[in-house]
Amino acid sequence: MATNMDYEAFFANSVEQVRQEGRYRVFADLLRHAGDFPRATRHDGEERSEVTVWCSNDYLGMGQHPKVLEAMREAMESCGAGAGGTRNIAGTNHYHVQLERELAGLHDKEAALLFTSGYVSNLAALSTIAAKLPGCIVLSDEKNHASMIEGIRHSRAEKRIFRHNDPADLERQLKELDPARPKVVAFESVYSMDGDVAPIGTFCDLAERYGAMTYLDEVHAVGLYGKCGGIADRDGVMDRVTVIEGTLAKAFGCLGGYIAASESLVDFVRSYASAFIFTTALPPHVAAGALASIRHLKVSDVERQRHQERAATLKRRLREAGLPVMPTETHIVPVLVGDPVLCRRVTDRLLDRYGIYVQPINYPTVPRGTERLRLTPSPLHGDEHIDHLVQSLKEIWQDFGLKHAA
Ligand code: PLP
Repeated sequence: MATNMDYEAFFANSVEQVRQEGRYRVFADLLRHAGDFPRATRHDGEERSEVTVWCSNDYLGMGQHPKVLEAMREAMESCGAGAGGTRNIAGTNHYHVQLERELAGLHDKEAALLFTSGYVSNLAALSTIAAKLPGCIVLSDEKNHASMIEGIRHSRAEKRIFRHNDPADLERQLKELDPARPKVVAFESVYSMDGDVAPIGTFCDLAERYGAMTYLDEVHAVGLYGKCGGIADRDGVMDRVTVIEGTLAKAFGCLGGYIAASESLVDFVRSYASAFIFTTALPPHVAAGALASIRHLKVSDVERQRHQERAATLKRRLREAGLPVMPTETHIVPVLVGDPVLCRRVTDRLLDRYGIYVQPINYPTVPRGTERLRLTPSPLHGDEHIDHLVQSLKEIWQDFGLKHAA
C-alpha cells in the first residue's frame, strides 16, 4: 500500500519545531565592500542599510587584500572560471600544485592535499583513515567540530569521546585500549566557539606513548598564530602531529580546505577518499588567491599583531563595561546571553537599531543555556567600531535587563 505520509507537512513541522526553540536561522543578506572591510550593505526586501560586520571568519580581512584580489584576477584572466574537472580528470591546474606545495611547506610536512572546503577535508580524511586502518579506534575531543564528527561517523570505526582538552581523560581511555589496535587522536587547536586552545604537545606525548596517530584541526588558527602555521607552529610541535588539517576560507580569506602530512598518508587519502576523488577541483583563481594570501602572511606579521591587539582591546572594553565576556586566550570573543530567544533579540536589536551585524550562536553549535554572541575583531576594526559596539551592547543589556558580568 502507498504511504499516506504528508511530506510537505513533515518538512514544515520540523522547521516549526526549530522555530519554537528559537533556533530558526535567518541569514543576513549582505554585500561586502572590498576596500572597506568590515562594512557591508544589508539587503532586507526593498530596503538597504549599511552595517558593520562583527562576526566574520575572514579574520584578517584577507578576503579583500589587494595582493589576493590581483592574484585572483590574473588567474581568472589566464585560466578562466572553473577547474573543468575532478583532480584526476583534467581538473588539476598548476595553481593547485603550487598551493599544495606551499601548504606542505607551511606546516613543515612532506605533502598536502586540497579539498573544496575545510568541512570536506575533515569528512574525507578522517572517514578514509579511520575506515581503512584495520580495527581503528578514534579518540575524539567532545567539542570537535561537526565535520570531524561526520568524518568519524562515516568511517564506522569505533569512537571514544574524551573530555574537552583533558589529557588525563585521554590517557585513561588510551590505557584501556588494546595496544595492538591502531588509534587516531582527533582534536582542534583553537575551539571556535569558546576560543580556548588544546594542549597539543601533551596530546602528542600521550599519542606517542600509546602508539596513536594525531589528527589536528587548525582551521581557526592557521595564518593567525606562530609564523603563520597555527598553534602547533607557535608551540613548536608541528613535526609531532601526524595530520594537520586547515582551511583557506578564514584567515586566508578565500575558500577550500586541506590536509598536510607525510607523503604516504597524503597519497593514501588522495587515492581512497571519495569526497576528494569524485568532485570538481577548486577554481584555479581561488587557489591563486589562497596562494597569494599565504605567501603574504608568511612574511608579514603586521596583520597578526594588530589582530591580537584588537582582540585584547575589545575584551578589555567589554569587561570594563560589565558585559559578560567569556574568558578566552585567543582572538575569539564570546559574550554570554544564555537563552536562544534573548540571543536572537539582542542581535536583531544590534542590527536594526545600531547597524551592527552579529549572528546569534545557538544550540546545537553550542550547548543549550550557553547561547552567545561570538565577536571576531579583525585588524580592520578601528577604535570607533569598538566604541560603537560596546556602547550599543551596554544600552541593549540595560533595555533588556540582561545579566552583567559577576
Ligand atoms: N573545522 C572547524 C573547527 C570549523 O569551525 C569549521 C568551520 O567553521 C570547519 C572545520 C570547516 O571549514 P570550512 O569553513 O573551510 O568548510
